[in-house]
Amino acid sequence: MEDSAPRPGEKKVVAVVGGGLVGALNACFFAKRGFQVEVYETREDIRCANVVRGRSINLALSHRGRQALKHVGMEEKIVSKGIPMNARMIHALSGKQSPIPYGKKGQYILSVDRANLNKELLTEAETYPNTKLNFDHKLQDWSAETGLMTFARPDGSKTQVRADLIVGCDGAFSAVRKQFLRRSRFNYSQTYIPHGYMELTMPPKHGEFAMKPNYLHIWPRNTFMMIALPNLDKTFTCTLFMPFEEFEKITTGDEVIEFFQKYFPDAIPLIGADALKRDYFRLPAQAMVSVKCSPYHIGDKCVLMGDAAHAVVPFYGQGMNAGFEDCIVFDEIMNRFNEDFGAVLPEYTRVRVPDDHAIADLAMYNYVEMRAHVNSKWFIFRKHVDNL
Ligand code: FAD
Repeated sequence: MEDSAPRPGEKKVVAVVGGGLVGALNACFFAKRGFQVEVYETREDIRCANVVRGRSINLALSHRGRQALKHVGMEEKIVSKGIPMNARMIHALSGKQSPIPYGKKGQYILSVDRANLNKELLTEAETYPNTKLNFDHKLQDWSAETGLMTFARPDGSKTQVRADLIVGCDGAFSAVRKQFLRRSRFNYSQTYIPHGYMELTMPPKHGEFAMKPNYLHIWPRNTFMMIALPNLDKTFTCTLFMPFEEFEKITTGDEVIEFFQKYFPDAIPLIGADALKRDYFRLPAQAMVSVKCSPYHIGDKCVLMGDAAHAVVPFYGQGMNAGFEDCIVFDEIMNRFNEDFGAVLPEYTRVRVPDDHAIADLAMYNYVEMRAHVNSKWFIFRKHVDNL
């Protein structure tokens, strides 16, 4: 057994479980405070991997996410590799495109590459001498009484480690959260929406973006929709959101084209008919889950952040951004309560649960707004008025 418990005079050990977006950023926040930080990630080091699988190729970084990056000195580095999206670009069935700005002139959200963001954050965490990244460590179980964690290694062996604080950043299907479920007065709900999602690539055209790059493109079709976000290599990642039963109805390449011809005709020449026929069947559609729970902590031993605490459906573009904001909120409470985990953790639950639940509700609301209301004349009129 490895034992990381601190000796007298040593800084406490914080174990961050999950080296995804929120875990890697959180490691920086704790390291900045001087804690001995151990990150445990089930995957291999994605900086050396040939293929990096995440929940999406790119994502929208907005103000709350940027604020958190700024706290650890990473904002400029990430923003410089992002593509500003000033407005939504609505694609009508006729092919007509109409922009709807996100805010006032000059305001925008950024399309960023998920894998690059994760890599940069891991590299930043590693610059702190008091941080160690432990890849190929899958949390199996942990004790709320002792803080002892058991990790499975790829060779079948097990490692046991103790920490003063366990920070569960291990995503929507959190292994850390499993212990919470065994306890009394833990509220938990999980909802799968009927829609799944599939990513398709729109290649560059004559070396340039095939569509206007500074927009989040949306093809709202009421019961389903497609969106596209730009990438630095001048491709777009298109994401088709549709009920699983509709995905399953399409079983041949010709049916894919027929479907696109009916609903997204302008996208066929841009993605390419052959690529569409091939890529539609490359991976099955992925599920989307919304998780709400409370409290976010157990005693002074463990706290949940990011998707482990609040997985939200992606239609508000705020899952990661809210997870990043969790890190700032926790950090501010650490200041107020002098890093006393016994006081910080309950306060974090008190402050953060209502806000995260509100984001989850807004995301669920936007699930309808983006695919249906965004189509209505009233919505377009209202957005124009909002932005005058
Ligand atoms: P994750 O990214 O899931 O990372 C969890 C990490 O924990 C992973 O590295 C995993 O390998 C590791 N792990 C899991 N189990 C264990 C274990 N037992 N032991 C050790 N490690 C473990 N959000 C936005 O803000 N903007 C967007 O535009 C946006 N678009 C999205 C589009 C789609 C299609 C989807 C599905 C989500 C989108 N999101 C977006 C949400 C965003 O992806 C999540 O909110 C974000 O990834 C949460 O980060 P996280 O670090 O909490 O969890």
